[in-house]
Amino acid sequence: MLLIDGKKVAADLRQRVKNDVDALVRQHGRAPHLAVILVGEDPASQVYVRYKEKACEEVGIVSRIWRLDGGITQCALEKLLTELSHSDDIDGILLQLPLPRGLDASRCLALVDPKKDVDGFHPENVGRLSIGLPCLKPCTPYGVIKLLEYYGLSPAGKRAVVVGRSNIVGKPMAMLLAAASPFGNATVTICHSRTPDLAAVCREADFIVPAIGKPRLITRDMVKPGAVIVDVGMNRLADGKLCGDVDYEALTDVVSAMTPVPGGVGPMTIATLMSNTIEAYRWRREAPACP
Ligand code: NDP
Repeated sequence: MLLIDGKKVAADLRQRVKNDVDALVRQHGRAPHLAVILVGEDPASQVYVRYKEKACEEVGIVSRIWRLDGGITQCALEKLLTELSHSDDIDGILLQLPLPRGLDASRCLALVDPKKDVDGFHPENVGRLSIGLPCLKPCTPYGVIKLLEYYGLSPAGKRAVVVGRSNIVGKPMAMLLAAASPFGNATVTICHSRTPDLAAVCREADFIVPAIGKPRLITRDMVKPGAVIVDVGMNRLADGKLCGDVDYEALTDVVSAMTPVPGGVGPMTIATLMSNTIEAYRWRREAPACP
């Protein structure tokens, strides 16, 4: 089995981003600026934001974090997003989700300038992705494509199954795998909690991308020999350890390639955020009218 080493690929991507940042500083006189907005005290979100801050430091992107009280009003949050969207000094905007109860994430995301939308969640970027126009793409699924690309694991002409249909992972993942682009061109099936016989659907797949959030739901009997698995799931077990949606140990002699958890998709999500920030910076300078 080929171990798809997300840590290594992410380190390689961060190094390339660092080189790009150096070149952009020489060319334009300043590094890209990323604004990160964290609302409330969600412990997982605080950890993710710290990782993002650290990654920015490592590659030379200037990050500015707004740590806002969970009691902030919708109106005040929208005002901040609008200001950041109009600010010439900010190249990328990331609103850390989930927002505390009472705040409307969709309304907030729609206020982010699509050209600064480094998470690829703005409806304009979602639409552009769905019709194959250039756009900022959601970091986790785009990170999965970069992993496949790095190892030359092309899904073209193959059957791919994405388990999960969330707006941030499952749906964009399916769109990227089906896109008429390098490391797309797969025949894609999207499964979810109402899919009757998940095992039968998965068994037909050459590529399986679980994005479910259920520890070890994908078991040995659900996987065809030689399949490639990229496990997006990240689950905290009672003993504090992390595990994916796949029964990893039981599958090492069945699959041809697989990501571990941790050390698979997770590091790619953050590295892709860095490369999306570079893309946003370039778009605003080189093609200000459209991303
Ligand atoms: P959501 O909870 O939004 O979506 C989960 C999806 O899984 C839903 O579409 C749900 O179906 C489906 N599902 C749930 N149970 C089953 C089941 N028994 N059979 C088939 N489908 C099922 O989660 P996210 O998309 O936000 O995240 C998914 C996982 O990926 C989580 O573990 C999360 O922690 C991880 N993640 C990891 C990232 C990384 O960087 N590695 C980044 C983002 C997420 P339905 O729609 O019918 O409810």
